[in-house]
Amino acid sequence: MSFWKTTPLTEMSQAQWESLCDGCGKCCLNKIIDDETDTLYYTNVACELLEHQHGGCLDYESRFKKVPGCTKVSMDNIAELTWLPNSCAYRRLYLGRDLPSWHPLITGSKVAMEQAGIGVNGRVIDEKQVEYLEDHIVLWPLKDVD
Ligand code: SF4
Repeated sequence: MSFWKTTPLTEMSQAQWESLCDGCGKCCLNKIIDDETDTLYYTNVACELLEHQHGGCLDYESRFKKVPGCTKVSMDNIAELTWLPNSCAYRRLYLGRDLPSWHPLITGSKVAMEQAGIGVNGRVIDEKQVEYLEDHIVLWPLKDVD
């Protein structure tokens, strides 16, 4: 049942809302915003709780306690979270787009998503190893495939 086609984001149950997250992990990458141009840059530097291969959170229940800067995506802030990747289901639906063909809710697993190069897929490094975020800017988190 494609509930996201018939149920507005504002009317989704908590379970439906949570299931929209594909677990790509890209929102858990450190980002840089250029002060002068407001340009957003993704880096491959992972939050300390990001699982590097498949993108899940290693302590989802306690994430706000362990990582004070962690942001809960909700209807209250989705309009402001312009730094979410274009592939993110919340961002896509908020902007009136559909879910992509590789989304786990459609395919039943993360295989197609990972094959499409959407998840972090081991392409990240631990933030404890990093001195300058600017040295780790990457473009692959910008990839968006329908
Ligand atoms: S970017 Fe969106 S879909 Fe990907 S992990 Fe974050 S909230 Fe989930």
